[in-house]
Amino acid sequence: ALKVTGLSHSFGDLEVLKDLDITVQKGEFVSIVGPSGSGKSTLFHLVGGVHTPTAGAIEINGQKAKRGLIGYMPQQPALMPWRTIEKNVVLAQEIKGKADIAAAREWLSKVGLDGFADKYPHQLSGGMQQRVAFLRALLSDQELLCLDEPFSALDAMTRLEMHRWLLDIWEANRRAVLFVTHNIEEALLLSDTVYVFSSRPATVIEKVTVPFGRPRRDDVVDDPDFVK
Ligand code: ATP
Ligand code: MG
Repeated sequence: ALKVTGLSHSFGDLEVLKDLDITVQKGEFVSIVGPSGSGKSTLFHLVGGVHTPTAGAIEINGQKAKRGLIGYMPQQPALMPWRTIEKNVVLAQEIKGKADIAAAREWLSKVGLDGFADKYPHQLSGGMQQRVAFLRALLSDQELLCLDEPFSALDAMTRLEMHRWLLDIWEANRRAVLFVTHNIEEALLLSDTVYVFSSRPATVIEKVTVPFGRPRRDDVVDDPDFVK
């Protein structure tokens, strides 16, 4: 789904990415961990077609990277302040000409935002806005999802719930996921492969194949006695 080869990027004199090779196969879950300021979000901006790389190539499903090819959740939720929450969720769908408001409302209640569909972004907390941006990317119907620290503002319980929705949707549609996190345990829990970046300029210092495999959705058994 994604093939990054020999990718380097500089902002003027500031060298940010150096000779990166990263592959995400269809159906694969790949995480990136690395120090703050190393260049992870810059990589996402390049994959999303926001910037053009200084050197190297980015191919998404056989096409050169440009806007509109990925389901993208930026590190800052970047919701449209003049749009209601449900209209923000369907934004990526609208661009493709098939917005499903009913499904958006259903998903909002699944992620704990029942009753917020008609509110505006400023009326939500940071963690709530993050879940809206998460749904917007998830429901974009793109094969490649790029999620930049999607759960950083969430409490532990909500974060676990979001993991389950993400794995659900990812397994149902065999999407490819590229995921940035500062939480190495989260990376190991969710991914098939983890890339470890050096500090800036980011290079891949390690590519780890996760040994035991992620728990499949089918393996997750609800314990009815857990909550008394
Ligand atoms: P964090 O984990 O804190 O989110 P990151 O790995 O995502 O960090 P980036 O946001 O990619 O890091 O930033 C990498 C470097 O590139 C930083 O030094 C930053 O100042 C610089 N940078 C990012 N975007 C730009 C830009 N548009 N113009 C100039 N410099 C930039
Ligand atoms: Mg970042």
